[in-house]
Amino acid sequence: VDHANTTTSAIDETSGSGQGDPEVLLRTITKDLGKTCFTGQPIGKGRYGEVWKASFKGRTVAIKCVKSTEGESFYRETNIYATSMLRHLNILDFIGADMRSCDHGYTELLLITAYHQLGSLYDFLRVEKIDKLIAVRLLNSALSGLVHLHCGIDGHSPFGDQNQGKYKVAIAHRDIKSRNILVKNDLTCCVADFGMAVKRNPDGKADFGNSFPKIKIGTRRYMAPEILAETINLKDFTAFQRADVYALGLLIWEITRCIPVGDDEGLFYEPAFFDVVSADPQFQEMENIICDRKMRPTHNPKWNLDSATRILAKLQVDCWCDDPSSRLPMVRIKKTVAKLESDLIEDMKAAGTDICEFIASKSSL
Ligand code: ADP
Ligand code: MG
Ligand code: MG
Repeated sequence: VDHANTTTSAIDETSGSGQGDPEVLLRTITKDLGKTCFTGQPIGKGRYGEVWKASFKGRTVAIKCVKSTEGESFYRETNIYATSMLRHLNILDFIGADMRSCDHGYTELLLITAYHQLGSLYDFLRVEKIDKLIAVRLLNSALSGLVHLHCGIDGHSPFGDQNQGKYKVAIAHRDIKSRNILVKNDLTCCVADFGMAVKRNPDGKADFGNSFPKIKIGTRRYMAPEILAETINLKDFTAFQRADVYALGLLIWEITRCIPVGDDEGLFYEPAFFDVVSADPQFQEMENIICDRKMRPTHNPKWNLDSATRILAKLQVDCWCDDPSSRLPMVRIKKTVAKLESDLIEDMKAAGTDICEFIASKSSL
């Protein structure tokens, strides 16, 4: 169902790798988007806003609408999208940002991105049966996005030094979970929702701008022990990337669980700790199981029977260590999963499977 119709025309569009200041982006982009009318039902709901499907310059897009009173996360997200060289196949495509006044007297902030009809990885895993190759393909592509996000790329920016002498600054996501990763039609993923993300300053500290850094932001279920216990060193940017890796470990567990092993079909999707905490767990519940009892999601002994699930199970454990400095770096995880995917593809080819046909048969291509 197309929930949207549009009255918009002649709108300035910016490239997703737009430079600099989100304020400038706001002024230069999509001035008339506020006149766009999108009706029907929102396609997604997060903590801060609603996401609608709309039509924009002949293209179907997603528009995240946030009340201006919740502007902090909106400005943080726009600022992240304004990072030079962020554009990547596995990072949600940013189109523009705008604001509009609503009938009820408040201002709404709008973030426009590419639209992905399969929705989030959470939505996808809940309805689709996935096999080993698709699971690894989803994970490997999400990891490409996460590695790109995490990596600082050295070199001087051709656009002057506004990017701190780095070609691309390192970024930590701070809210990694299946709901914040979107599935594209070719069954690869892109990373989305940068409302909590933070950049690395040249001095190695996390860039919180003028605002006082909050430790316990993100999603409680996915919070690393050092965040729950508030022992994380706020000054050390790397600490936030290590907390990302912890959350990624839980995500790998969620995906692994859905893979069929032996005679068993893959299990129905459940989020990490579904069996030990409530649907929207409070800090105390999480602190109790993660910090005090040091619990982690359960290992399925059947995973040892297959080399792919065995590798994924080992990765989970190496991501969610209690000691943040023992966790694997994102690039290391990516290398392991990339190798896993290419080995699986080789095996299937050797068995006479046409990989392109196989993926097309599983996707809506
Ligand atoms: P929030 O910051 O409020 O959590 P998100 O950016 O995570 O907002 O979006 C909320 C939900 O909307 C996602 O979990 C996803 O289900 C859906 N969604 C977001 N962006 C898109 C998109 N570009 N295409 C399709 N669905 C989307
Ligand atoms: Mg979200
Ligand atoms: Mg968010």
